[in-house]
Amino acid sequence: MVKLIIFGGVNEIGGNKILVEDGKTRIFFDFGLSFAKGQEYYTGFLTARSVAGATDDLELGILPRIKGLYSKEMLKFTDLKYEEPKFDAIFLSHAHMDHCSHLQYIDESIPIHAGECTLRIIESFEPGKREQEALGKHNYKTFRTGKKISYDDVTVEPIHVDHSVPGAYGFLIHTSAGTIVYTGDLRRHGPASFMTDEFAEKADKCDPAALIIEGTRLGRKEKGENIREFVSARYVTMLAGSPPYSFLQLHDSTSRTTWPVPDISAR
Ligand SMILES: [Zn+2]
Repeated sequence: MVKLIIFGGVNEIGGNKILVEDGKTRIFFDFGLSFAKGQEYYTGFLTARSVAGATDDLELGILPRIKGLYSKEMLKFTDLKYEEPKFDAIFLSHAHMDHCSHLQYIDESIPIHAGECTLRIIESFEPGKREQEALGKHNYKTFRTGKKISYDDVTVEPIHVDHSVPGAYGFLIHTSAGTIVYTGDLRRHGPASFMTDEFAEKADKCDPAALIIEGTRLGRKEKGENIREFVSARYVTMLAGSPPYSFLQLHDSTSRTTWPVPDISAR
């Protein structure tokens, strides 16, 4: 029997924590920070205490109480008892905080599957600078579009999509009850919308049993108007040979909108 349990991401922006169970196989898709829940308690410089592990986020209901998922270290000061990991893997759709930030609590032995580019971006996060960006050490395994990764009866097929951060993926999750399509966070108005179209075509061919979708825009009205992002992409290409600087800049450009971009409209 296949179960789909969504611990975060419904009726809110991001915070996705999606569990697919097929028999004994248990796989999470994304494990992000819920902005909506976090904003109820944390404002300005007020954040969860990093020295207290998962205590604050568990107590405030920001982190779901799930046995066999979190690390012994993170549960040290909590009333949730540590148990040996009961999950096969976590797949990340992309490197935005609302999809990956709560990896910091996950047991290190649970494999984390991420795109090659997503892992580069995650590696550029600076531990200690912004607490929520220190995702901890994990057993990362990388994929590229079209690769198939199997855990018993479940086969996961990541397919690239276009989004405001590079290296974003949707997933075709082939289970014993049919294919579940999880889009990750996608759009069709950006400069690489062909990737989203390819994902949609492949998803359609699977005759999906279920669709989990999140996205910014499915229309194409703004295509071609986003000069800032076009220039950012060019910068990344130019700087790609000098990491980690390029990826730090890239991260800034996509999440904090502080990257100065020259005005090329007159050229
Ligand atoms: Zn996103």
